[in-house]
Amino acid sequence: MKKIIVAIDGFSSCGKSTMAKELAKSVGYAYVDSGAMYRAVTLYCQRKGWIVNGVVNQDELKKAIDSILIEFSYNPDKNRNETFLNKENVEDEIRTLQVSEEVSIVSSIGFVRSAMVKQQQAYAKERGVVMDGRDIGTVVFPDAELKIFLVASAEIRAQRRYDELIAKGEKVSFDEILENVKQRDFLDQTRKESPLRKAEDAIELDNGNLTLEEQRDWLLKRFKEVVE
Ligand code: C5P
Repeated sequence: MKKIIVAIDGFSSCGKSTMAKELAKSVGYAYVDSGAMYRAVTLYCQRKGWIVNGVVNQDELKKAIDSILIEFSYNPDKNRNETFLNKENVEDEIRTLQVSEEVSIVSSIGFVRSAMVKQQQAYAKERGVVMDGRDIGTVVFPDAELKIFLVASAEIRAQRRYDELIAKGEKVSFDEILENVKQRDFLDQTRKESPLRKAEDAIELDNGNLTLEEQRDWLLKRFKEVVE
């Protein structure tokens, strides 16, 4: 069976990563969460104090960008992929609202994107990869054999993110999350560098009313249509 690249793009909190992870697991592919990479760079900047009033100290970040190493590793105890920033496990820290609030600013910087895209392309040298993000089907792998563009209403997405953060014990309000989701949609779609848009050859899926199982079956069917 031929090995392909599966690109899953779409708005924030659409469930892209759940979908991508499940497919990767069931077909034995590697999974790469490209959003986690931008989140890790954001956390790095925050720790250095390089983001002040929504403005990033680009001079400092530019000097450091090539030394920011982002890796992924599967943790069998927690049954999840974890993100490492310069060898430190930052999986929980990059998911906080504090990082979500500034990640779109960092991910709109051209040199940050080129550095991340280079790393993302290297992960898929031998194909057999499922990657989710915003520009995977348009910029990172325009030649991906299967491209999915996932959508759902902002309210449904905010509710999912809210449930997730509350379950982790974070003190957040639904309105605050909804505002963040809408704000990120806006920034991701209107930025100059690789804005979020559906690739012409991507298949759009609105998963607002789908169960996880229906979504899983739908994707597996699309995958089999391409590889078999
Ligand atoms: O997917 P996730 O919500 O974790 O991504 C966090 C942020 O990273 C997005 O809001 C977006 O600004 C940025 N991102 C991006 N390109 C990608 C993946 C994520 O710009 N391929």
